[in-house]
Amino acid sequence: MSERILVTGGAGFIGSHIVDALVAAGHEVAVLDNLSTGKRENVAPAAHLYVADLREPAALAAVFAEVQPAAVYHEAALADVRASLREPAEYAQVNIVGTLNLLEACRAAGTVRRFIFASTGGAVYGDPAELPATEACPAHPLDPYGASKLACETFIATYRHNYRLEAVILRYANVYGPRQDPYGEAGVVAIFTAAMLEGRPVTINGDGLQSRDFVYVGDVAAANVQALTWGGGIYNIGTGRPTDILTIYRELARATGATLPPQYAPAKPGEARHNYIDPARARRELGWTAGTLLEEGLRRTVEWMRR
Ligand code: NAD
Repeated sequence: MSERILVTGGAGFIGSHIVDALVAAGHEVAVLDNLSTGKRENVAPAAHLYVADLREPAALAAVFAEVQPAAVYHEAALADVRASLREPAEYAQVNIVGTLNLLEACRAAGTVRRFIFASTGGAVYGDPAELPATEACPAHPLDPYGASKLACETFIATYRHNYRLEAVILRYANVYGPRQDPYGEAGVVAIFTAAMLEGRPVTINGDGLQSRDFVYVGDVAAANVQALTWGGGIYNIGTGRPTDILTIYRELARATGATLPPQYAPAKPGEARHNYIDPARARRELGWTAGTLLEEGLRRTVEWMRR
């Protein structure tokens, strides 16, 4: 059944893939984005773009009055761990207060049945004692970005409790794929790919044996489509497998044909050595698995960036 859906951050990397998947599934989709990092050209032509800011309740009310969404995907956020250490108050303002403004807009609109939130496995679990981390692992954010996402999860739970808003929290692993910004501080796949295609050496922080859970953006979009109908509560959205940074470097060097050896810089202080998450609950309750093999996902990313 076709539904009216609002996607915040739908002009960004992950949000725009969710919009594409929802449009392909036959839904009527609107996007709310302030275009701070998002791009107009990322938004599917079938989706209407409202340029508005989460920090402005009146602007949100106007969008909700027009769209009257039955479901809201909340992807808009400041999403850079290292930047959050420099600007914690800014992260609290956009991520926490912005999310509360959005939840209040949902409540006031009275049309919203379901709220699906982009959280983070890496930053919410921090340095998990057990790997792969399950949803039952204690949350120990190591930075203001992770703390802001955990705060959002807690506020969302209060709306679920008090107003019966159906809420699904998706804790993404390290997402990679087409449209990721290669010139920021985050997103090692995009940063390495751009450097290799531009003939610059890649810089590896630390020994390169630190590992993360790399999940392809198309798979993340598919999980979001499942969450429109199924599930409730918190789900890890990852592969359940660790991949070290040197492996990412080697696979991308093969896909791009790059031959320059990597340069090594000191490890970033305070970052977890290993972090990967267990997606068993999403498999059971959302009927979702990360189907794209790393090699294939990296190949598609390189192909997109070559254009
Ligand atoms: P992105 O920067 O590409 O997308 C964020 C979008 O939000 C952008 O389009 C930006 O313009 C918009 N935005 C930012 N501040 C806004 C504001 N005040 N008002 C309205 N719009 C605003 O980042 P992304 O990587 O696509 O991340 C999407 C979501 O997924 C974020 O919530 C992020 O925390 C989460 N996440 C991402 C990853 C990852 O690996 N990329 C991992 C875990 C979680």
